[in-house]
Amino acid sequence: MTEVAADTVPCRLCTTLVARDATVCPSCGVKDPWIPNEPSINPRVIRLAMWGGGIVFVGLLLFASGLMMFGPRAEQADERDHRPPGTASEAHDSR
Ligand SMILES: [Zn+2]
Repeated sequence: MTEVAADTVPCRLCTTLVARDATVCPSCGVKDPWIPNEPSINPRVIRLAMWGGGIVFVGLLLFASGLMMFGPRAEQADERDHRPPGTASEAHDSR
């Protein structure tokens, strides 16, 4: 229980005991290794998450533009047919 000294804290990434006043972990090189609030996520993962969010955002934009382009066309097609899709099969059966 007395292995951890008062002025040393385990690194949040590699759990190596580093000095509390150290700005960079000497083992893994992470900045501020004693801050427990900061999530232990690599910057690469954060960058990947940002890219994924951007791709999802662009996909939503394309989806919205597709709805705006194909929405009025579908309404016009319904006006030309002048009959709901449910009665189309009955018309085929009557012939
Ligand atoms: Zn470390």
